[in-house]
Amino acid sequence: MSDKLKVKLMGKKDRSYELVLGEIFFDELAEYLGKSNLGNRVLIITDSNVKKLYGKKIQDALRKTGLKIDLIEFKAGEKSKVRETKQRIEDRMFELGLGRDTVILALGGGVTGDLAGFIAATFNRGIPYIQIPTTMLAMVDSSIGGKTGLDTRYGKNLIGAFYQPKRVYIDTDFLKTLPEKEYLNGLVELIKHAIIKDRDLFYFIGKYREKVLKKDPEILAYLIKKSCEIKSKIVEIDEHESSIRRILNFGHTIGHAIETLSDYKITHGFAVSIGMNVELQISLMLNYIEKHEVEIIRQLLKEFNLCIDVPEEMHVNDIIKSMEMDKKAIKSSIRFVLLEEIGKIRAVENRFSFNVDDEIIEKAIEECKKSR
Ligand code: ADP
Ligand code: ZN
Repeated sequence: MSDKLKVKLMGKKDRSYELVLGEIFFDELAEYLGKSNLGNRVLIITDSNVKKLYGKKIQDALRKTGLKIDLIEFKAGEKSKVRETKQRIEDRMFELGLGRDTVILALGGGVTGDLAGFIAATFNRGIPYIQIPTTMLAMVDSSIGGKTGLDTRYGKNLIGAFYQPKRVYIDTDFLKTLPEKEYLNGLVELIKHAIIKDRDLFYFIGKYREKVLKKDPEILAYLIKKSCEIKSKIVEIDEHESSIRRILNFGHTIGHAIETLSDYKITHGFAVSIGMNVELQISLMLNYIEKHEVEIIRQLLKEFNLCIDVPEEMHVNDIIKSMEMDKKAIKSSIRFVLLEEIGKIRAVENRFSFNVDDEIIEKAIEECKKSR
């Protein structure tokens, strides 16, 4: 059974696309590729883990399209999200004789989606691609909205493009093989969507905690759909992150710094959980939010076994330096998305992120070390 949502993007030409939600759709994908005319050749880009689990299955299912199918893999992990991997895959694409009539399938987590999406954006000046997210993080967040990119040693996602997919297949069946840790990592982005935009959803997640942790299919389907709705509505209004899309960065200003400083040992979602805690502390210190609201959020994060404390060994100065490096590269100052209450972000006219005094940032970070 499947369900559909639409991401409406008009502009000069209609770039709207569908999110297809449900379970096990390799057959539906085959049918779509067969009739869509996106390309005569299909290239699956995936990482080493996902290839082992699903590589053969997807190739077998797509064979009936009659299209020529190729697969290129790369070593699993955030460290592969770099220019060298992109170049190696592109060279391999030339060796395989792939050209403009190719459609790329990005089969994997956020790393695969960002990398394969960026390859699609630049190969032959742009070829179509389809997102097939296999992690929770990619399903609820990174596969929607067309942000593609790579990390450099100067910061995360500093090279990339806004390039929308033709479709997104969100098949919750993939989550059955996803390790618990990766599942929780993605759940953080879902919780983030609730915190910034949907109070009812936040309470729903708390109420059904047990079922959420057990990956109950019905609850999962509901939550993923809700999360995709929130994300796609924001993207529809502000595709290029010049205003409201910034609110999706709640927890990310601090989170990115923690992720980078840990050398990616603390993965994205877990770093964002810590980042949300610090950014809540900043909101509290600036009197934008009540203590009680902050405590409710902290409690929920803890109930999902998420760490919210800044690691003791991370120095405040290093965190600030890392944030500055991130921002210098894009020529802006360090800005924070701040919360007023669960489901309501601070907005002043059309501004959604704010400068905060260094002293407050430092105090908030220290405060979030003490809570352990
Ligand atoms: P993220 O999606 O969190 O951005 P990755 O793309 O690196 O990060 O995926 C996280 C890890 O999960 C990787 O090691 C990847 O190979 C693995 N993985 C992705 N999808 C699945 C799945 N459905 N089952 C098992 N492991 C998976
Ligand atoms: Zn994120």
